[in-house]
Amino acid sequence: MGLKEKIQAKAEELGFSLMGVAPADPLEGAQFYARWVALGYGGEMEYLKRNIDKRADIKEMVPGAQSVVCLGMEYYQQTPETDEPLRGRFAAYARGDDYHDVIKKRLFLLWDYMRAAADGEVEGRVYVDTAPVLERELAQRAGLGWWGKNTCLINKRKGSNFFLAEIVSTLELPADEPATDHCGTCTRCLDACPTDAFAEPYVLDASRCISYLTIELKGAIPRALRKGMGNWVYGCDICQDVCPWNGRAEVAAEPAFASRKGLERPDLREWIALDGDAFNEKFRRNPAKRPKRRGLLRNVAVALGNSGDARAVEPLIHALGDEEALVRGHAAWGLGELGGQEAKRALQARLELEQDGQVCAEIVQALENICVAEESRA
Ligand code: SF4
Ligand code: SF4
Repeated sequence: MGLKEKIQAKAEELGFSLMGVAPADPLEGAQFYARWVALGYGGEMEYLKRNIDKRADIKEMVPGAQSVVCLGMEYYQQTPETDEPLRGRFAAYARGDDYHDVIKKRLFLLWDYMRAAADGEVEGRVYVDTAPVLERELAQRAGLGWWGKNTCLINKRKGSNFFLAEIVSTLELPADEPATDHCGTCTRCLDACPTDAFAEPYVLDASRCISYLTIELKGAIPRALRKGMGNWVYGCDICQDVCPWNGRAEVAAEPAFASRKGLERPDLREWIALDGDAFNEKFRRNPAKRPKRRGLLRNVAVALGNSGDARAVEPLIHALGDEEALVRGHAAWGLGELGGQEAKRALQARLELEQDGQVCAEIVQALENICVAEESRA
């Protein structure tokens, strides 16, 4: 067995079901990436604007790099169907332990193995979604899959429900053949996106994507995009779920990614009432800690507003008194969507007390919405 095959066997043992090797050459995709950032498609994600030069040339990060071992670890989880409108949706990749923690540990173990198996000294670094690596381009070069129109990396056998990780090193390994595009004339993902987040095929305007809005965005969600969020409270799987290459997706073998109880279809009424302690307890070592309590409850308020269910009014009225202005503002929006006399009275009462200008603006707009709806019914 050659060195590459040994590394592959070890990677599989550690739970990486996909592995390929790309040469550590400069990346053509860096120009596309710089244009994407310049067009504002990265929204407020300032960290994406940093180190663009390093993204172009991987040797900037690991001097003398010869190869990039690209790895994929599957995470797919099934989502139960329900007719209950007060159940939300939560992205499959985030329902278990934080993948950064899980994968980084395995990467270090694999890197230890590579160093021990190599003939002589080697230098290198491991990456999982945290450093300026153009990981999809590298993975395409390494033959793991192609960059689909939904901008996910798609593997013919495994679909797209896997995390990417890399080991960049001075180790010389034979490169794999780059993967080719198999999207063909299909446009399912582009047609299914509820917020029109694709600027064009293969180009995502992340500032419109539900994943960005529910996870990365710190402040208020643009009003024009709130309805399109439907009942998603953390991330969105739509453009992957509709992809025919995911038609035979299998639940991931990795136990750390198994859906935690209650995360498959979140109980929106319970979640909008989570206090700080309950939030910390529920999302310990889970990616949903990223938007913090205020960000997650903001998302839940939007989902309740989109539910069209009168049972959502009472929990939203309660959230109008939340300590976080961000939550109060989105609760007001939700009440404006649901309407009714109870919602109207609660909004009027809160307006008397409210000291935050943005929340006041949300309440006024919500009251206007309710009046417009009443007039159109009259
Ligand atoms: Fe659209 Fe959802 Fe895909 Fe984002 S994740 S591009 S919102 S379908
Ligand atoms: Fe490509 Fe169709 Fe999958 Fe979109 S849904 S990524 S167009 S194969």
